[in-house]
Amino acid sequence: MSFMSRFPGRKSTDTEPVYGRRNFLKQSAVSLGMTVHEFIKHRDAKPPQEEQTDPVRTDWLRPPGAVNESLFLERCTACGDCVDVCPHDSIQVSKQDERPEIFPDHTPCYVCEDLPCIGACETEALLPINGPITDVNMGIARVNHRLCTAPAGCNACVSKFPTEAIQMDFSSFTITVD
Ligand code: SF4
Ligand code: SF4
Repeated sequence: MSFMSRFPGRKSTDTEPVYGRRNFLKQSAVSLGMTVHEFIKHRDAKPPQEEQTDPVRTDWLRPPGAVNESLFLERCTACGDCVDVCPHDSIQVSKQDERPEIFPDHTPCYVCEDLPCIGACETEALLPINGPITDVNMGIARVNHRLCTAPAGCNACVSKFPTEAIQMDFSSFTITVD
């Protein structure tokens, strides 16, 4: 059927696309709807999570008896024997070089009387302590006085410490480290 026969009242030059315009308007409405939908979807979407990686800590201690650090790096073969014998799981394996590390704020060294970690080390990266257990020197504790609540009466660290190296100074109500 020709256009003229379907619409006899129209002139042959009247080529207005009646159905085409309807379709166009319909499509436009659908398209607008989809755009609004996409906008809302993106607006409400959570921002992509950045991949979290644990920061590498450098504030570790070596196990008791460790030789100086440069020699330790030469001698320690990262065999993990000291890690395996530690009864308190105090020694962590470094994520960087698999050598032993201790983070006292995570799990402290309990300074075992028989020091099995030292006995397990065959490379002399950890050397025997030839004296009283108090000769073990892994580092010196420091008190963060900004965070310490000793002025408010806390002395939990003093009461748990096995020696008298950490004391409460009652004149100033601060913790001191010998
Ligand atoms: S002394 Fe004991 S607690 Fe400390 S690292 Fe050695 S085995 Fe572990
Ligand atoms: S036992 Fe000795 S060589 Fe082995 S990981 Fe421990 S410190 Fe290193």
